[in-house]
Amino acid sequence: MMPDALLMAAHFARTRWLLDFRQRDALERWQQQRLQRFFTHVLPRAARFRGLQPTTLDDLPYMDKATLMADFQAYNTRGVALETVLPIALQAETSRDFSPVYDGLTVGLSSGTSGNRGVFLVSKAERLRWAGILLARTLPPHLLKHLLSPWHAPLRIAFFLRANSNLYTTLNSRRIQFTFHDLLHGVEAAVPQLNANPPDVLVAPPPVLRALAVEAMVGRLRIQPSHIIAVAEVLESRDADSVRSAFGRIPHQIYQATEGFLAYTCEHGALHLNESFVQVEREWLDAERTRFQPVITDFTRDTQLIVRYRLNDVLRVRTEPCPCGRAEHSIAAIEGRADEVLWLPAHNGIAVAIFPDFIRRAMLLVGEQIREFAVQQRGMTLHIGLSLDGDASQVQQAVATRLADLWQELGVQAPTLHFTDWQVPPLGAKRRRVQMLSAPEGFLCTF
Ligand SMILES: [Zn+2]
Repeated sequence: MMPDALLMAAHFARTRWLLDFRQRDALERWQQQRLQRFFTHVLPRAARFRGLQPTTLDDLPYMDKATLMADFQAYNTRGVALETVLPIALQAETSRDFSPVYDGLTVGLSSGTSGNRGVFLVSKAERLRWAGILLARTLPPHLLKHLLSPWHAPLRIAFFLRANSNLYTTLNSRRIQFTFHDLLHGVEAAVPQLNANPPDVLVAPPPVLRALAVEAMVGRLRIQPSHIIAVAEVLESRDADSVRSAFGRIPHQIYQATEGFLAYTCEHGALHLNESFVQVEREWLDAERTRFQPVITDFTRDTQLIVRYRLNDVLRVRTEPCPCGRAEHSIAAIEGRADEVLWLPAHNGIAVAIFPDFIRRAMLLVGEQIREFAVQQRGMTLHIGLSLDGDASQVQQAVATRLADLWQELGVQAPTLHFTDWQVPPLGAKRRRVQMLSAPEGFLCTF
């Protein structure tokens, strides 16, 4: 039996150098080969797929978080029931001790909105594979050199997340020192720890990166990470700008969900889908095919099965090829979740999707006076919370003008705007800039 670190290193090497596809047809052949193997050897081990004998993905049913949670036991190859593992996941969440396992499986809770949480199971072999793949896809060459030089101190990774998991601590080894910072403790609490043990790699959700950038600008935080990665939420250009001015680095992104490791930033700054391990089908959200919801099949996992799983995310396609030459398709941005899409009726009575990025851009164009904002749609009213520098009525007027331009451009009926103060979200909660709470009555608001 190979020691863990060696196994992780083997996955690393295989991913970095062997599965570095430059030709699209070679990548697709590889995917087909892995899928066929997955159909024959893995799928029949989960009750939901037994006896289906698919030849292509089209032969298989779709799933999403709700389907998975409703029939949890049937979607994993160990026959583990939700009732068995849910208490373990909830207990970890309350005690903030994220180490418990069930029968050798890591049990985690995904960070869905309330009532929409998912449980995930990961075996030890999957954890080591995940860690190897993640490092292979995200470590820049200078840090790889650092990692492989035994005379250097271990590579220090500081990780800010809502919850830790055995998944992440798998990265800990003789050459990697991984420190978890609990978002529930806030950013200020982490500053002395970071100063005492400055990380080489900083990983955090964008609002946290921005808060850390502010701490660095005022001189309280004295770290110089050489690699910065944004996770878990949409990276807005303003977050990226503050990080760059505070630390002199452009933040990279990892699109990692409990459903899998889905995309990563290459050296040219493009987000590539992790297609060497995950098959991505596109469900188009507009006639022009600029945005899609990903439907993913992870053919590398063999405990909890993710097969034609529809993610609640909106991805924007990138039209130009990436100069890095990777065959994995790249996307322009992760724009948010499908429930962040607003809907307004066009003058012909048909509802039009207003993607969250349109709203973000309009607010950005108003300028620096807007420190924070949140937009919520209730029918034909938009509730706009603002945190401002400067004169409120002037800024509100500017926002109204920008949005009026947007409605006109999209040919939709203008909603009523209702301005309020921006509410600080609770510690550890996801930033939700745009939210559709209720659609205008009498219109079909769906893709
Ligand atoms: Zn690239």
